[in-house]
Amino acid sequence: MRILVTGGAGYIGSVVAEELIADGHGVVVYDNLSKGHRTATPAGADFVRGELTDTENLRRAMRGQGTEAVIHMAAYSLVGESVTEPAKYYRNNVTAGLALLDAMNEEGVRKIVFSSTAAVYGEPEKQPVEERYALAPTNPYGETKLAFERALPWYEHAHGTRYASLRYFNAAGATGQCGEVHDPETHLIPIVLQAAAGRRTHVEIYGDDYPTRDGTCVRDYVHVVDLARAHILALSSLGERSAIYNLGCGGDGYTVREVIDVAREVTGRDIEARVSARRAGDPAVLVASSARIKSELGWSPQFQDLRLIVESAWRWMQSHPAGYEDGAEAQAG
Ligand code: UDP
Repeated sequence: MRILVTGGAGYIGSVVAEELIADGHGVVVYDNLSKGHRTATPAGADFVRGELTDTENLRRAMRGQGTEAVIHMAAYSLVGESVTEPAKYYRNNVTAGLALLDAMNEEGVRKIVFSSTAAVYGEPEKQPVEERYALAPTNPYGETKLAFERALPWYEHAHGTRYASLRYFNAAGATGQCGEVHDPETHLIPIVLQAAAGRRTHVEIYGDDYPTRDGTCVRDYVHVVDLARAHILALSSLGERSAIYNLGCGGDGYTVREVIDVAREVTGRDIEARVSARRAGDPAVLVASSARIKSELGWSPQFQDLRLIVESAWRWMQSHPAGYEDGAEAQAG
């Protein structure tokens, strides 16, 4: 199948492109490189630089390649920034997304897999979180992802466009080629590994007075390759039905302190941790129930052990000490 991957030069998008190519699919990466990086695009993928709102360019990219499906990963994803600059998030995550849906419609492309997020649930009352739980985002990032999700059934109704919305919990880890680099870096695992590498003096633990087993927040870390495999499974199911799936490893998740301990073991380095204030908007616990995608599509994450996830991220960081070579940063999701 020929697939257009928006945001395919970003962290998760580049791994999705890598896995699609490994499976023998044709890939065209469509990315404006505002966050993503050209060298994160795997060999074998075509690359088109462009904005989602540049309809002519986008339609040409689809038409030229005979695209049959889109994996839509281009988005802004910083929660804090979304609170201070909501317009930026509405413009990119909603308006530009709708421009993509319209371009797909014009070109007769009727399948889309969408990168959504656990942020659509806000602060869920029960764990693990099931897809049917209340949708109550607490910031414009989650709100704009949900707005796009909610457009999809209407496009399906009007135009027959099949969709799968994949609600990621905490993506982490790396492949040999693609890893996580953001500027600024806000995610726990790369921050902890930067401290292990001596690139920062310490890690701040944002609050240790949560109602959890050690007082720090619990999250559900899922390896980026397992996420990518879920996209490919979801894509292959689109002939039959549209769907919404949570993606996480479930179980008890890991606390911030547990993540730091695992990183100490994996790296063999001292990592100084200092407790600081809670970060606004952090739910105490976010763990997915992925029962639906497991039973409907047979998804089965291979990297259930956090050690394996952290090891892969550490290997990547050591082999890419300056991130991607020309210094730009990679981000997606
Ligand atoms: N966290 C932390 N220190 C950091 C970065 C993150 O204590 O420097 C915590 C954060 O409060 C959350 C967890 O680590 O409980 C995961 O945060 P991350 O930003 O990686 O992902 P999120 O769950 O916010 O999507």
